[in-house]
Amino acid sequence: MIGVGDMVLLEPLSEETFIDNLQKRFSHNEIYTYIGSVVISMNPYRSLPIYTADKVEEYRNRNFYELSPHIYALSDEAYRSLRDQDKDQCILITGESGAGKTEASKLVMSYVAAVCGKGHEVNKVKEQLLQSNPVLEAFGNAKTVRNDNSSRFGKYMDIEFDFKGDPLGGVISNYLLEKSRVVKQPRGERNFHIFYQLLSGASEDMLKKLKLGRDFSKYNYLSLDSATVNGLDDAANFRTVRNAMQIVGFLEDEVQSVLELVAAVLKLGNIEFKPESRANGFDESRVKDKNDLKEMCELLGIEQLVLERAFSFRTVEAKMEKVSTTLNVAQAKTKARKKVMGVLDIYGFEIFEDNSFEQFIINYCNEKLQQIFIELTLREEQEEYVREGIEWTNIEYFNNAIICELIENNQNGILAMLDEECLRPGTVTDETFLDKLNTVCAEHQHFESRLSKNSKFLTDHSLPHNCFRIQHYAGKVLYQVEGFVDKNNDLLYRDLSQAMYKANHSLMKLLFPEGNPAKVNLKRPPTAGFQFKASVGTLMRNLQTKNPNYIRCIKPNDKKAAQVFSESLVSHQVRYLGLMENVRVRRAGYAFRQAYEPCLERYKMLCKQTWPHWKDLARKGVEVLLKDLKVPEEEFSYGRSKIFIRNPRTLFFLEERRRQ
Ligand code: ATP
Ligand code: MG
Repeated sequence: MIGVGDMVLLEPLSEETFIDNLQKRFSHNEIYTYIGSVVISMNPYRSLPIYTADKVEEYRNRNFYELSPHIYALSDEAYRSLRDQDKDQCILITGESGAGKTEASKLVMSYVAAVCGKGHEVNKVKEQLLQSNPVLEAFGNAKTVRNDNSSRFGKYMDIEFDFKGDPLGGVISNYLLEKSRVVKQPRGERNFHIFYQLLSGASEDMLKKLKLGRDFSKYNYLSLDSATVNGLDDAANFRTVRNAMQIVGFLEDEVQSVLELVAAVLKLGNIEFKPESRANGFDESRVKDKNDLKEMCELLGIEQLVLERAFSFRTVEAKMEKVSTTLNVAQAKTKARKKVMGVLDIYGFEIFEDNSFEQFIINYCNEKLQQIFIELTLREEQEEYVREGIEWTNIEYFNNAIICELIENNQNGILAMLDEECLRPGTVTDETFLDKLNTVCAEHQHFESRLSKNSKFLTDHSLPHNCFRIQHYAGKVLYQVEGFVDKNNDLLYRDLSQAMYKANHSLMKLLFPEGNPAKVNLKRPPTAGFQFKASVGTLMRNLQTKNPNYIRCIKPNDKKAAQVFSESLVSHQVRYLGLMENVRVRRAGYAFRQAYEPCLERYKMLCKQTWPHWKDLARKGVEVLLKDLKVPEEEFSYGRSKIFIRNPRTLFFLEERRRQ
C-alpha cells in the first residue's frame, strides 16, 4: 500500500500529513483514498489501466476494506446494499469544475452496468443508460477555461432496478442548462460541443441538406480563437453521438429534426439586425442580410415574413420556457416497487473572472450539496450512535447553512429579492436590484450583526462598481450584477414563440407549446431563479430519502496536466470540502461497523470456541472471538445490533488472520 489508504489511519493527522498522503499516492497513480466510506478521487488527467474488466471482477462482491481504495468498491457496496438490503442509494459526486465528477459518474454507471443482471433485454437497457451520456454531453457540455468537457447543466439520474437487481431503465433530470452560452462564450471557451461535431462530422450530403458549410468561422455563434480543442476529435464524436442517439431510441427522422434545429440556431446567429427609425419616433429593428433568415425558415418550415415580423416587433410579454426536463430513457416494465440508485453529477463550484447569474446559481447548488453532505454524514453518524447506544461527543465543523439562507431565504434571500425586483412595476434594472440587495443586506448586517446573519454577504469598500460579493464555503466570489434581471426573467416575447409554433416542424412546435394561440396564458411564468430553487429543493428532499455514498473529487492542478500536484490548490479544496472535519468525525467515532451475524460468520474460523458452530447469540460469539484474539477493549464497542470497530487496523488484522 502506498501511503495510507484510509485517512482515518493517518498518524499524526494534520492538514500537512493529509496532503502529503494524497500527493504520495497520486504520484504512484493511486488516485483513490478513503475517509471511511467516503471516496476521495484525484483527477489523474490521463487514462490509467485501472478500469478494466479484470478490475471489475476483482472488486465484485468484495468487502470495502478488502482491496485497495477504488471507485468500484464504492459502486459495488452501493449496488449490493440496493440489491440485497433493499435500500435505495444515491451517489453524490462533488468537486469543482474539472475535478472529475462526470468521469466518476460514468465509472459508477459502467461498473453497475457490468455487474447487474444479464440477458438480451437487460443488456439493451444497460446500453441505453450508458449511451445517454454522449448525447447529453454533446448538447450540454462545452470547452471552458477550466475543463475541455465541462458540464453546463446539472444532471441527476435515477437508475431503476427490479427486485432481483436487474436494471429497468432510468429517469434523467436536468438542471438549468447554461443557455446563454449558445449566443456568447467567454474568451478561450467554446459553444456546446454539438455545433462543432455537426460541422466536422456530418457527411457532405447531410451538410447540404442542413444548408451548412464546414467552416466554423462562417458562424457568429462559434468563437474563433478556440474552435478546435487539443485531443478532442469532433468528427469522431459526432459519429458516437449519432450512434448513441439511435441506441437511446431516437428514430432516424427524429435525429434529423434535432440536427435541423442545431443548424437553424447557427443560421439564427448569423442574422444581423439594423435599427430603423420610424415615423412615429420609435426605433424598429430590421433584418440586414436575408439569406440566413431565408435558409433558417426553410429548415424549420416557417414563413419568412412571419419570422421577420416576429423579430422586428414586440407586442406583449409572454411565457418563458421550462428549466428542467425529464427524459425517459426506458419504460419500466413492472409495477412492483422499484429499487433506485440515483447518480448526481452537477456542475462544480465556479469562480471566474466575471461571474454572472449562471455562476451564482451553480454555486448556490453546490452550497446545497455541501449542506447535504454535512447533514447526512454528521447526522447519520450521530443518529446511528444514539440508536445503537454508543457514547458520542460532537465535533466542530463549519456549517454552511448560513450561506444557503443568504441565497434562498423566502423573505430576504438574494433570490427572493431578485424576484421581487423582477416582478415590481416600474423601471427595473440590474442596478436597482443591486441597490436593494445592498440596502437589505447592509441593514441586516447592522441590526443583526451579533447574529451575523448575513456575514457571508461581504460589503467592503473595495467592491468594484456593479458587483456584490459572497463568501461561499469554497471561497469568495465576486458577482457582476449585469444581466441578473434579464436572465432571471428569462422572457421570450410571445411573437417569437408564436412564430416558432407556426413552423411546419413538429419538434420545433413541441418546444414552443406556449406559442399556440389557443393556449395563450397571460399569467406571468415563474422566474428562472424561482424554478431553480424549487427544483433544487425537490432534489435535496429526494436525496435525503436515500442512503448516500460520497465521491469527493479533487483537481490536482489548474493546467489540465498529468502528474502535476499543486499543493496550494489541493489544500484549498481539502479545506473547503471539509475533509479534515470528515476525518476527525470518523476518527472520533468508529471507522467500521457490522451487524453481529455477518461479523461472526466471517471471523468465527479464527477461534476454536466459535468454530465451526456457535449456538448462542451472535453478539456473544463476537465477544468471545474478539477476547480470544486479544483485540484491545478500547478498539470496539458493542452496539444494540452491531459491533463498532474504532480503527480500520483492527479490521485489517482480522482480515489478515483469515488469510493465514
Ligand atoms: P465540470 O464541473 O466542469 O463538469 P467535472 O468535475 O465533471 O467538471 P470531468 O469532465 O469529469 O470534470 O473531468 C475533466 C477531465 O479530466 C476529463 O475530461 C478527463 O480528461 C479527465 N479525467 C477526470 N477523471 C479522470 C479519470 N478517472 N481518469 C482519467 N482522466 C480523468
Ligand atoms: Mg462535468
